[in-house]
Amino acid sequence: MEPFQIAIDGPVAAGKGTVARLVASRLGFLYVDTGAMYRTTALLGKRNGVEWSDEAGLVSLLQHHEIELRTPSEQEKDGRSITVLLDTEDVSWEIRTEEMSRGSSIVSVHQHVRKALVEQQQRIAQKYDVVMEGRDITFRVLPSAQLKIYLHASPEVRAKRRHQELLVRGMDVSFEQVYAELKERDDRDMNRSVDPLHIADGAWVLDTSPLTIDEVVDVICARVKELRV
Ligand code: C5P
Repeated sequence: MEPFQIAIDGPVAAGKGTVARLVASRLGFLYVDTGAMYRTTALLGKRNGVEWSDEAGLVSLLQHHEIELRTPSEQEKDGRSITVLLDTEDVSWEIRTEEMSRGSSIVSVHQHVRKALVEQQQRIAQKYDVVMEGRDITFRVLPSAQLKIYLHASPEVRAKRRHQELLVRGMDVSFEQVYAELKERDDRDMNRSVDPLHIADGAWVLDTSPLTIDEVVDVICARVKELRV
């Protein structure tokens, strides 16, 4: 049987990660956080002294290093949503800083960086039933996915969620700073020349502002059930 693919796109902090992880866990699918790959690329650049603006340098690093995503094992369950390995080293938390948020947003404008990561993502989705989330999944990575979703919420709601997440993790950052950073990243994602974030043809647009996470997960799982009969 062909793998079942659920593709989710949307702007920063629309709830994609949490929703995708819970839907995957409920359906027994693999959760794939493609943003983690762009974050790890930014980390690779920083560690190797390659500027985030240096496309060829970053592509070469990707050719010589391996990024692997997997569901956290029992010992790894420390609040992370996914385990990210860089050449077998666990970098799951190191890629979650504000610096790497900014870096990932900058490295992701490069066409050849995107190409390398998209190919890797497509290989995963050919093998497993997946819930894959990012900024180009519904129209570039998995345009034939059985279910395509565009998740969004107002910038205020999203900045509040992201601010709360960072405070819980002990990071000292103001709401205004989070809001400005979020708008800047959205702007870069929606205006880059290669595959800018947009609502794909046939995508189901879901506004998560008035819904709880559980409600969003419920409606998505119900839709999958309808599609699979
Ligand atoms: O989802 P997350 O915020 O972790 O993604 C980090 C950055 O990677 C995003 O700001 C976006 O610029 C980039 N990204 C992308 N395409 C994807 C996933 C993420 O350009 N499929």
